[in-house]
Amino acid sequence: MRKKLVAGNWKMHGSLQSNAALLEQIRAGVVGLACEVAVFPPYPYLAQTRALLSDSEVAWGGQSLSEYPVGAYTAEVSAAMLLDFGCRYVLVGHSERRALFGETDAVVAAKFAAAQQASLIPVLCVGETLAEREAGLTTSVVSRQLSVIIEAQGVAALASAVVAYEPVWAIGTGVTATPQQAQEVHAAIRRQVAVLDASVAKGLRILYGGSVKPQSAAELFGQVDVDGGLVGGAALVADDFLAICRAAN
Ligand code: PEP
Repeated sequence: MRKKLVAGNWKMHGSLQSNAALLEQIRAGVVGLACEVAVFPPYPYLAQTRALLSDSEVAWGGQSLSEYPVGAYTAEVSAAMLLDFGCRYVLVGHSERRALFGETDAVVAAKFAAAQQASLIPVLCVGETLAEREAGLTTSVVSRQLSVIIEAQGVAALASAVVAYEPVWAIGTGVTATPQQAQEVHAAIRRQVAVLDASVAKGLRILYGGSVKPQSAAELFGQVDVDGGLVGGAALVADDFLAICRAAN
């Protein structure tokens, strides 16, 4: 039985003051929930997050990491640094990193490897653009993004990773994939892994991300291959995020 995971990606939002209130409410609101909950604040707030969540049920992670372990890489943050601040997870290949910061499949694969070498759990984000969906390329795009990781790291690497299916057209747009659209792609991802290793496929948590709201969460999370969500905008509002967490419960 896969434990559901609801993860909040704060992107470049927050301040010491607003984070303190949000983290406090999340910490209190998740008590007793059966699902796992994680937050992904901007790097400078990881120390604050650790201080406020360290004896709570909420995990946290980085929004990205460097593919390099150490050295003269100005502004980069290594996997070991994330570990130093108690991170359990790290997002890898978010569509904003791919589209706005030029992260190629190869870079994403290198970051995935760097995360696992440091025992961080990568949350690998995959998803098609609207043009790709309209051209009927959804499955092939998502399958390629996943194949790059499997070819580089082997299918067994997915036993200690999470995949997030995030259609680019749904991220931050207010347009949510229908539960059927999400289920179709999640099932395809699981089938792709199952061909190589049935047991890894069975245990693999596949999150849906893209304008998840309290109103849409329960039906999305009710799909057989949807194991929780990666939440952006709604993760900044404690009541909304907690309602989404309860929907996964
Ligand atoms: C995201 O950034 O991963 C995301 C899913 O954002 P939103 O929920 O705002 O669409």
